[in-house]
Amino acid sequence: MSEDSEPIKEGDTICIVGGGPGGAGCAIALLKESRALNKPVNVVVFEHKKFSEHRHYNQCIGVLSPPLENILKDELDLVIPDELILNEIDGYCLHSDRLSLNLEGVEKGRSLSVKRSRFDAFMLEEAEKAGAEVVHNRVTGIEVHPEEVMVYSEGDNYKGAVVVGAFGLDDGSCRIFEQGTIYRQPDFLNTVITRLFPGPEFIEGMESTIHAFLLSHPGLEFGAVTPKADHISINIAGRNVSSKVMLQFLRSEPVQRFLPPHQRREKPLNYFKGKFPIAPARNLFGDRYVTIGDAAGLIRPFKGKGINSAINTGIFAARSIMRHGVSLADFKDNFYADCRDLTEDLPYGRVVRVLTNLATDFKFMGQMIAIAASDKSFMKAMFNSVSGHHSYKRIICETASPSLTMHFAARIIQHFVFRQKANLPVDKVRQAV
Ligand SMILES: Cc1cc2nc3c(=O)[nH]c(=O)nc-3n(C[C@H](O)[C@H](O)[C@H](O)COP(=O)(O)OP(=O)(O)OC[C@H]3O[C@@H](n4cnc5c(N)ncnc54)[C@H](O)[C@@H]3O)c2cc1C
Repeated sequence: MSEDSEPIKEGDTICIVGGGPGGAGCAIALLKESRALNKPVNVVVFEHKKFSEHRHYNQCIGVLSPPLENILKDELDLVIPDELILNEIDGYCLHSDRLSLNLEGVEKGRSLSVKRSRFDAFMLEEAEKAGAEVVHNRVTGIEVHPEEVMVYSEGDNYKGAVVVGAFGLDDGSCRIFEQGTIYRQPDFLNTVITRLFPGPEFIEGMESTIHAFLLSHPGLEFGAVTPKADHISINIAGRNVSSKVMLQFLRSEPVQRFLPPHQRREKPLNYFKGKFPIAPARNLFGDRYVTIGDAAGLIRPFKGKGINSAINTGIFAARSIMRHGVSLADFKDNFYADCRDLTEDLPYGRVVRVLTNLATDFKFMGQMIAIAASDKSFMKAMFNSVSGHHSYKRIICETASPSLTMHFAARIIQHFVFRQKANLPVDKVRQAV
């Protein structure tokens, strides 16, 4: 424990702004720690959405990636109920403007598709069962004083020993924390999601494969088509994506193949806007406050697994608060140190993002897919990047080799000097969807 720390005392109140996976996970972890330490505390979660009514949701495709099941079981004693699972994801297929490749690799653990509002309702109910007080009001302001915090809501106001910011990238809440502390919102990409309901036969034909698209479309960083139980979810991400860019994405040749013939020229009826962080927030913790999940910008760079990171960082914050204290130094030495898997991977993720954007800008992604088709180690790297299975640091360290460098050099010359298009080896063409 650091010199200026003040440990949480019996009967103290911990306020959590936001009851998404990060906030709910943090609440459950706090109450588990409090039982283990025999130090009863009050945990108050402010969540203005009512997930159980399925009218409110948090923007998401709803894929739970490994090792989420293990995190929930080992750290929070939770098992995902079977009725929440829509289907298991079988694999990933990567598409450039011209080429498609089924990514071959092995994931340890299952990737599960769920309805996000049902998953959030489950987590928040578990937090309540563990003993948290869930307040269905919007937080409207916070004050952080040396000796306590005040949290204002549309209903009751609460005094606490510490406030946890688990509010995602909600603009209003970011401003509230920016006004109350020296926290600064993380950089982010915008996203648009739409859904199509093509009928059961078409969905069955797609199998449970996630199709990831890295196309050379200005402003678009990536897109994906994900089959769910009764519909397909289509999402795009980029600095300036909009419903217009979504329409262009849907009308692009590589995507058209995954749309039902009768819906290929249709305009989707619903678009949902969202965002996800691509860098950590500044001053993401301080005396008596800590942010977690999307609010902290602490997610795997480029290819998310945002739910995993939100829950993990919520658990780290809970441990830090209960075992050590709530000062800036405590959060730095404990919470932030525990986040090292995420923070150490940030520069590597940035490199992968820049290289991927360059590859799509210069229409080189087809060549990269062709390299993956003929080079096992690069195929593994692509699989691990798209599935989010390994850290970028590990992917880069395991993949970089003189032979791969030569392979890339040959493809670069072929592409930029001789202007030759990439082709897949014949056996891989058959695999391409
Ligand atoms: C298009 C898209 C698709 C995605 N798909 C996936 C995916 O398939 N799998 C995956 O793992 N991740 C995915 N993510 C990322 C994932 O959704 C987030 O990383 C994750 O939800 C972060 O959890 P969180 O608890 O930090 O924040 P959130 O889930 O955003 O939860 C924040 C909560 O705080 C509440 N809140 C905010 N302000 C206030 C306030 N003032 N008062 C009261 N309550 C407040 C909100 O209502 C919300 O419930 C996706 C993201 C996007 C944008």
